Amino acid sequence: MSNSGEIRLVDLTKKFGDTDAVKDINLTIPHGSYCCLLGPSGCGKTTILRMIAGHETPTSGEITIGDTSVVGLPPVQRGTAMMFQSYALFPHLSIRDNVAFYLKMRGVGKDERRKRADEMLERVQLAHLRDRMPAQLSGGQQQRVALARSLITNPRVLLLDEPLSALDEFLRLQMRVELKTLQAELGITFVHVTHTQPEAIALADMVVVMDTGRIDQAASAREIYNSPATPYVARFMGAQNVLTGAVEGIEDGIARLKSARGETFEIPRQNVTPAIGEEMSFSVRRDYIAIRKRSDIETEAAANAVFGTVDSIEYQGNFVKVSLQVPGMDTFVANVPDHDYFVEPIGPGDAVAAKWDKQHAHVLDRVDTGVPE
Ligand code: ATP
Repeated sequence: MSNSGEIRLVDLTKKFGDTDAVKDINLTIPHGSYCCLLGPSGCGKTTILRMIAGHETPTSGEITIGDTSVVGLPPVQRGTAMMFQSYALFPHLSIRDNVAFYLKMRGVGKDERRKRADEMLERVQLAHLRDRMPAQLSGGQQQRVALARSLITNPRVLLLDEPLSALDEFLRLQMRVELKTLQAELGITFVHVTHTQPEAIALADMVVVMDTGRIDQAASAREIYNSPATPYVARFMGAQNVLTGAVEGIEDGIARLKSARGETFEIPRQNVTPAIGEEMSFSVRRDYIAIRKRSDIETEAAANAVFGTVDSIEYQGNFVKVSLQVPGMDTFVANVPDHDYFVEPIGPGDAVAAKWDKQHAHVLDRVDTGVPE
């Protein structure tokens, strides 16, 4: 078995009765990367993790780690370790014995166990607490012990299922930094399941956005955030407004769309060759939207704008979140820089125009169906 922690999932499918928990997934997670599987509850993240770990058998498809096909191998022979959301330490064992537990299971001698457990506790900065019992530790400390316990067997892949969700906000942010640092130091592959976008963005070299058993996009956090592939990803990341229109004209690298409400949008053609009449979806980041009170000069004919009324205003510190009601749209949000907001204060009920520069329109792969996903 090589030491490579590259994971390859090929046409991977898992059915539970009639439910396709995971459907025909293809994904390569590079060795030594921090990968986050991101998606709402029930989209299949945990099932993928459990199949990699060997706690669940695929219905079809292949899983390789390094150069080894692991389907059919028992969990202990895969070179993986798993850390769960409920990190349940053994209450009757000392911290050191908790950390050494899997070595004992594998028949490693006492002196060697102690030495390696102490080294690992050093790494998570808990060496001074090694003789305590779990109940005498804080939640954050227990979490670090659980991490040390999973890493003690020197896995090439660490699988983490919602590892931060039991912690309060402060500890969560602290542990997030520690996880990232630890992964970089160890240089092994981390696969971390989460339903929280900021967590995935902060941690991952590769974010895999999932939607009911399939992958919508797998890319760097920056790419997912700035260039979502589909309306689903754009909505799920929360930073984008999704708009749709039918192609009315094409000129100079720009496609002109007409929305059902009658607005005109210009979008860069990028790599797509649209046909007249074709429906297209695009997204515009919330922080590229300028909000102005609707003046008499402004007409519905102005391109790259939607018109609506202010629904709510939320002060967020460095920006103001302005939510609009636009007929026929679920939500339309602009994050206006605080200093801009005070140039022309607006309030709920005001009629406004929300505008953007055409260069900020980002074409999406699929047409937005308008159905909440
Ligand atoms: P969560 O964040 O809630 O854990 P998830 O994205 O990890 O969600 P999975 O736990 O992988 O999702 O579940 C994917 C789908 O498979 C769901 O529809 C779930 O109900 C179903 N499922 C998972 N495990 C089983 C099982 N053992 N038997 C039957 N159905 C299952």
